[in-house]
Amino acid sequence: MLDQINTLKRFIDQSKQIVVFTGAGISTESGISDFRSQGGIWERFQPVTIQEFLADEVKRKLYWERKLALFEENKDAKPNAGHKAIVELEKQGKLRALITQNIDGLHQMAGSAPDKTLEIHGTSREVICLTCGDIKSWEYAYERIKGGDTIPLCEKCDGFLKPNTVSFGQRLDPDVLDQCFMHACECDFMLVLGSSLLVEPAASIPREAKRHGALLAIITNSETPLDHLADLKIEGSIGETMGKVIMNGSW
Ligand SMILES: [Zn+2]
Repeated sequence: MLDQINTLKRFIDQSKQIVVFTGAGISTESGISDFRSQGGIWERFQPVTIQEFLADEVKRKLYWERKLALFEENKDAKPNAGHKAIVELEKQGKLRALITQNIDGLHQMAGSAPDKTLEIHGTSREVICLTCGDIKSWEYAYERIKGGDTIPLCEKCDGFLKPNTVSFGQRLDPDVLDQCFMHACECDFMLVLGSSLLVEPAASIPREAKRHGALLAIITNSETPLDHLADLKIEGSIGETMGKVIMNGSW
């Protein structure tokens, strides 16, 4: 383990353009449940696809009930040492971009700059009108629902409001993906934290970095399809590992 920590430190020391790629594993260490895990909300509520959401009022109601339950469950979650370590990389001027599959906003809460953070699955901190594109805070929708408005509509155009996340059946934003691949091509070190790299096209981003000569390190608690490409693989806690790297780092 010490050898692995030292290798990770060395990779960070020698890199100037680091891209960090995070997945659910970094947030589970803050107590947020992964949708692949057993039990809890993910089993109580069937996911609603965007097509169902648009077509069916019952599904829209179900969708919001599920979002509300998830919010209540996760509202006290705080960033952990893993999130803070990424902020530290940014302060050191080494972070080119932060790409995340998470929608919980914990990176920004930890202090990561919004203009360096690419949320490929969107964010649940905002709601968007599916007709006019107007964006409001999550709290705005939350207050409306708590006030009895179970399926909140846009005040400007009466369109459906929905959390600004990529729903099942919805495409990833091509502009965001383009930026991710651009950063992948131009970084010198891709650090994957807590992603099982099973979802495409997201998983192709680290592969692209490696193909363009970057170092690749993966810290997660499972095997990934890219393990054979990685210059370093650590199976263990992200917070603990990154905490050690930061506390004892020469940078
Ligand atoms: Zn609208």
